[in-house]
Amino acid sequence: NNELRVGKSAVSDRESQHENSKRTGREMLQIIDENQAFTPLMSLYMKNKWFLEDKGFDYNVVAVFGSQSTGKSTLLNSLFKTDFEELAKGKRQQTTRGIWCDCAQDMDVLVLDVEGTDGRERGEDQDFERKSALFSLAIAEVVIVNMWENMVGLYNGANMGLLKTVLEVNLQLFGKNRGSKTLLYFVIRDHVSSTPIEILGSTVSNDLERIWSELSKPGDLSNEKLFDHFDIKYTSLPHKLLQQSKFDEDVSALRREFSDPSCSKYVFKDIYKRSIPADGFSRYMESVWEKVVTNRDLDLPTQQELLAQYRCDEISASVLVPFRETVSRLRNTLEDGTIKSDLGSEMNNARITLISQFDEQASRYLNSVYTKKRIQLLNIVDTELHGLYLIQIKNTIDICAIEFETKAKALLDELNENTTITDFQFDINLLGEESMQSSLKDCFSSIIESQKKNSMSHLKNVIDSTKIEDCDWKFDGDFSNLESKIDTVSIRLRKSQLEKTITQTIDTFYDHFSNQISDIINEASPDMWEQILEVYVNGCKIIEKRLNVFISQLGVHGLGYNAADEPDYKKYLSMELDLANKKSRQLLFDCLLKVCREEFNENILILKLRTKFEEKFRYDSNNIPRIWNAADDIDGQYSIAKAESLKLLPLYASIDISGIQKNSLLKSTIGSPDYFYSPVEKDLVKTIVLKKYNMNSNLELLSEHKQREFSKRASREMDQLFLDSKRSVVSQSSQ
Ligand code: GDP
Ligand code: MG
Repeated sequence: NNELRVGKSAVSDRESQHENSKRTGREMLQIIDENQAFTPLMSLYMKNKWFLEDKGFDYNVVAVFGSQSTGKSTLLNSLFKTDFEELAKGKRQQTTRGIWCDCAQDMDVLVLDVEGTDGRERGEDQDFERKSALFSLAIAEVVIVNMWENMVGLYNGANMGLLKTVLEVNLQLFGKNRGSKTLLYFVIRDHVSSTPIEILGSTVSNDLERIWSELSKPGDLSNEKLFDHFDIKYTSLPHKLLQQSKFDEDVSALRREFSDPSCSKYVFKDIYKRSIPADGFSRYMESVWEKVVTNRDLDLPTQQELLAQYRCDEISASVLVPFRETVSRLRNTLEDGTIKSDLGSEMNNARITLISQFDEQASRYLNSVYTKKRIQLLNIVDTELHGLYLIQIKNTIDICAIEFETKAKALLDELNENTTITDFQFDINLLGEESMQSSLKDCFSSIIESQKKNSMSHLKNVIDSTKIEDCDWKFDGDFSNLESKIDTVSIRLRKSQLEKTITQTIDTFYDHFSNQISDIINEASPDMWEQILEVYVNGCKIIEKRLNVFISQLGVHGLGYNAADEPDYKKYLSMELDLANKKSRQLLFDCLLKVCREEFNENILILKLRTKFEEKFRYDSNNIPRIWNAADDIDGQYSIAKAESLKLLPLYASIDISGIQKNSLLKSTIGSPDYFYSPVEKDLVKTIVLKKYNMNSNLELLSEHKQREFSKRASREMDQLFLDSKRSVVSQSSQ
């Protein structure tokens, strides 16, 4: 039932694509068919055949009304160069009901040829007449009423029935919401009598006023005047067949009234405008027809609002397509973690393009709807752009944090490499401020400071170049996010810098320290351990002194708290120093144990015992080597020397801390319970990891078992020396 009658020279869509956007003026479309169905092709014709889609408000709509076979189609075709079907000469063929539409040639005017408005003449009901009148008045600015001269004044004729319908319907449509007026243009055909057109016109006017006054108007409309709703115009034409050339002359004069805005009689005045943008026209027609045909309330303001919503949504969707392509292209480049330097301008361009595309089309629709939809569209757009912005900023923060770490680390490595500890005083007695001037200066602090500044300003630059002026995007959080990342890295860098310095200091000190201890061990005096512990404690002091200088030079950075929140960072510095000292004490005590274990390794220890034995056995009290005589008490000397030697074993077996309490230096240092470890500051300071440390569980150097074994081995060697001595006496006496 969607059978369509189209103009005989209508071209297929494919052919029309080859056309150069040129209207042929012969592209008629049946928009309402005899089954009262609306064509699905209207928007296609608007776009591809009539080229009106982009005209905005610059197009007009005219409809023709009148009894059948009064030469309506003939008139339209002459006037607008359209191609409506004319009844063949002499035939009395019944034209099918429906509404046809074509675009005038060389004018942006849509022409509606309404057929079948004379139902009463044929004894049919006036249903279609009403519907088509309602429809035409809703969309057409000018309605041409076509009638023969001899019909004028026949108040009870079919014509008047039609006019009554038009006026009634108009009241229904515009009664309450009087928006635009309609021009009723009476064209009186076959004007052959001598009656002047003015007389004919006033007769029509009088009839109209009479109809108007007899219309039953609802109470609030009872005072409405005919001319509040309509402007009336008249013209007449001669008999087309009898006065062909005069007819053509008059028609072309009439044509000027429809085509030439500079003409004083130009018909399309602004007050008749229906204000439907061309790109929404087909949709509007369709929804108006739908209301008309289902006999529902046709409320034009609501229709226009619905149209505005529909079209604004459609326009939003269409401008979002290229926009989203751009967004996803940009997202793809960002997703591998890079910073896109021209992201801001790309986003801005996409946004501006989209908005101007939207504005261009949508601003023609109902302002309240357009404004609301524009805000909605911008919300969508800005949310999507903000998504890109967030990825860009996240990438920047990540890259800045990584770059911060790499650069700061490289600079610190360079610094550490170029720093040799040349002024390190090993002698506790020479320890003084001036000798501890470190060549490290306060480089750590300035490296962190400047790299942090670089990172923050890099982020600021990216934010400035990426953000969109109109959007109030928050970025305080981004700065604090980067800052906290940098702070975390700074803690790590400070920690490794501290660790490096502590180990480096101890390494430098180690040789001197182990030599001192070795000497004391070799001495093996009874207060050996007291001496060793004193060397240890003094060593700690030397190292602490150095750390003190170093840590005070590290500055605030990387300490692991927000300097702005915590004014007395000195408290944190001294806690850090305290932990660093404790850590260095632990490490140096480990060094002490290492030196001892090296000194007391099996072979060296046996050698020590043997040397001790030899000192007593082979040398006399004046340190002169003994030549044994038979009279000498070799056995006695042997026992004394052996006992002396083996006495070393328990001395070496473990670190004797019994002297700590009676030695004031030791008592105040190593003797105090938190010399190696205190749990208090542990959680507050993040740059030093301090393990629990129990000196007392580390005191044993030789187990009982090892002592027995070494004693046995040493005894055997001493026995051998004893036997050698005995033998030398025997050989002497036998000579
Ligand atoms: P419509 O049904 O109103 O569209 O009328 P048509 O345009 O199809 O014309 C109906 C008949 O009237 C055709 O045979 C035309 O040749 C004829 N006709 C057209 N114009 C005139 C005219 O100005 N005067 C007269 N008397 N006949 C005309
Ligand atoms: Mg016709």
